[in-house]
Amino acid sequence: MTLVRDEDLDFESLTIEELLGWTSSTFGDDVVLAASFQDVVMIDIVAKVIPNIKTVFIDTGSHFKETLEFVNYIKDRYSLNLIVIEPEVSAEDFPCGSGNCCKLRKVEPFNKYLKESQAKAWISGIKRVDTPERENAPIVGWDETKGLYKINPIVTWNDEDVDVYSKNNGLPQHPLVKRGYLSIGCAPTTVPVKPGETVRSGRWANMTKTECGLHI
Ligand code: SF4
Repeated sequence: MTLVRDEDLDFESLTIEELLGWTSSTFGDDVVLAASFQDVVMIDIVAKVIPNIKTVFIDTGSHFKETLEFVNYIKDRYSLNLIVIEPEVSAEDFPCGSGNCCKLRKVEPFNKYLKESQAKAWISGIKRVDTPERENAPIVGWDETKGLYKINPIVTWNDEDVDVYSKNNGLPQHPLVKRGYLSIGCAPTTVPVKPGETVRSGRWANMTKTECGLHI
């Protein structure tokens, strides 16, 4: 496969549709979308260009029941080609917030799936404004840890851009958003965001942790 590298193509100048068109023509069926289902923006955007893309949800076993219900609803609404990955270790042995939980119950199961499915690229919905670790994230880059390309179509967006897209396109909202949960991960370490706080402050509140490890 001949890949166009960053220096050969100015990804920053492409529209998201052009970027996803390039992604589809370059990687074909060997690209997957990772979705947390805290919102539907990436699912909606990608479905318009790559309708049958494999969409991966990592069921850590610690999600809110509302998240699992939302996953099923969105799966039907978009006729998603949904892949649900489950960890091989239990929540009892590795409770949320413990040292190796994210690694063993999220990162490694996802990496294993990528390897076994022989994916050549994955798409994520990260934004540079999310965390300090993401502030230099490229639109297209080589993911050294996973050994494949990573496409970040909305990496230049901010949280308001996400809200505007959601409203303008009439997207369904995760049921916990109206209760103040603005960034939604596993239940034990996700809390509602107080007025004036950043969206990501609701994740791993009162902990130094800011990333699960999927994106670093
Ligand atoms: S957020 Fe908590 S339960 Fe979810 S994978 Fe990370 S440590 Fe485990």
